[in-house]
Amino acid sequence: MNKNLIFRKSYVDGNWTTDGKKTFKVTNPANGKTIASVYDGGIKITKKAIKSANKASNNWSKYTAKERSKILEKWNDLILEYTESLAEIMTLESGKPINESKGEVEYGASFVKWFAEEGKRAYGDVIPSHTKSQRVIVIKQPIGVVAAITPWNFPLAMITRKVAPALAVGCTIIIKPADETPLTAIALAHLADKAGFPPGVFNLIVGTDSAGMGKTLCDSNLVKKISFTGSTEIGQLLMSRSSKTLKKLSLELGGNAPFIVFEDADIEKAVEGAILSKFRNSGQTCICVNRFIVHNKVYDEFTSKFLLAVSELKMGDGMDKNVNIGPLISQEAIKKTESFVKDALKNGGKLITGGNSIDKYFFEPTIIGNVNLEMKLAKEEIFGPVAPIFKFSSDKEAIDIANDTIYGLASYFYSKDINRCWNIAEKLQYGMVGINEGLISTEVAPFGGIKSSGQGREGSKYGIEDYLEIKYMCFGNIK
Ligand code: NAP
Repeated sequence: MNKNLIFRKSYVDGNWTTDGKKTFKVTNPANGKTIASVYDGGIKITKKAIKSANKASNNWSKYTAKERSKILEKWNDLILEYTESLAEIMTLESGKPINESKGEVEYGASFVKWFAEEGKRAYGDVIPSHTKSQRVIVIKQPIGVVAAITPWNFPLAMITRKVAPALAVGCTIIIKPADETPLTAIALAHLADKAGFPPGVFNLIVGTDSAGMGKTLCDSNLVKKISFTGSTEIGQLLMSRSSKTLKKLSLELGGNAPFIVFEDADIEKAVEGAILSKFRNSGQTCICVNRFIVHNKVYDEFTSKFLLAVSELKMGDGMDKNVNIGPLISQEAIKKTESFVKDALKNGGKLITGGNSIDKYFFEPTIIGNVNLEMKLAKEEIFGPVAPIFKFSSDKEAIDIANDTIYGLASYFYSKDINRCWNIAEKLQYGMVGINEGLISTEVAPFGGIKSSGQGREGSKYGIEDYLEIKYMCFGNIK
């Protein structure tokens, strides 16, 4: 691990700092070994970070978009220059297979590059006036201090996806990463320091008192917005806590993605897409397929080809470049996955492959057939390498099953019929739809969900709007 990138502390007002002497351990989920101990920041450091971000806000908002863009471009270049080191840190603390970690570094950097450009295009409007003596102008201004709370499953990209648009338009930022994966965030902060953001513009607080730190951010009148990626439960908590200060919120929450295979689908392509969208990060992504919904007529063919592809996956320590299924993040995650499998089998599910935890830290890629809507894994986010398969016999039935969930993040389906493609895409109650495609994330498109999967969009031209206020100016008495 490149120790030059690891400062083991929070980064506030341009300095590496902490609350006291207390530390917490960061462990490798592939073997439970400690890889570093980090100073445990808490409420005190959170308050310092708020003060620092607020102090820096006025000055940073006055930088031209081009000046801000130059520093973001430098940060992007540094992230890419350190791809190998960042990927290694990420794999060691999150378990993600090393090739996926490298992919995440590039994906994460792509947001920095994109918003470095997009910040220059945060245009306002000139509106045709309703009277002869007035002129109506709309300008866009940075919201102010933003807090970004991020999860362990994308320790880098979930940070850059929030930080880049915020900084590009002149907001300042406080990042609170998950305590499982603080090292990638620390490395990113180090590179941000090297890129030259002025003190207080970029702040990172690392610590285990997430409830206390979260409450401090929510209660503060100086923090104008919270951008959160994580579970629906914590998203709801942050929303209710933010009501007192009426903060703006972007919420990227949990999912329960359906993957429908129609009878006219290209089955080979569907299997390719299924592997990509189910088993990335060992099934621990918000857009991982949670439910396969397969037409009766192609159920056997899809299941047998899927089984063959699953049997080729290699499970093990993510540092091995041939591995595509790493460990799960924690023992709790293993227990939860086991309980979902047990519940499905008890309620009539048929185990097609897998079903067991291996060597304490891993869970076998698993397929379960004969699934019904009463099972836990049909209703709740699995977040593990388990693929349940439903059968259906009409388009209406497929749509009914797909939409029968509180979530609405990603969805996927495979069909060669253009009319069906339009109809189904329009009927799916989701923020994102992959049509004959299992990989949909990119910086150029709006990422986000509806229903209990959250609100707001990240990436694309839409993502920048979440960090801007609209101001209407009326020039009167013009002769
Ligand atoms: P989580 O438990 O909600 O944690 C997410 C972040 O919130 C972490 O930084 C966590 O800190 C912090 N947190 C926990 N309790 C808090 C509190 N009371 N107040 C303030 N912050 C608090 O979620 P997770 O288990 O890490 O991540 C998995 C979830 O994220 C899944 O549901 C997944 O679908 C979702 N996700 C969604 C997207 C999306 O774009 N929609 C992307 C990735 C993941 P600590 O870890 O330090 O406690």
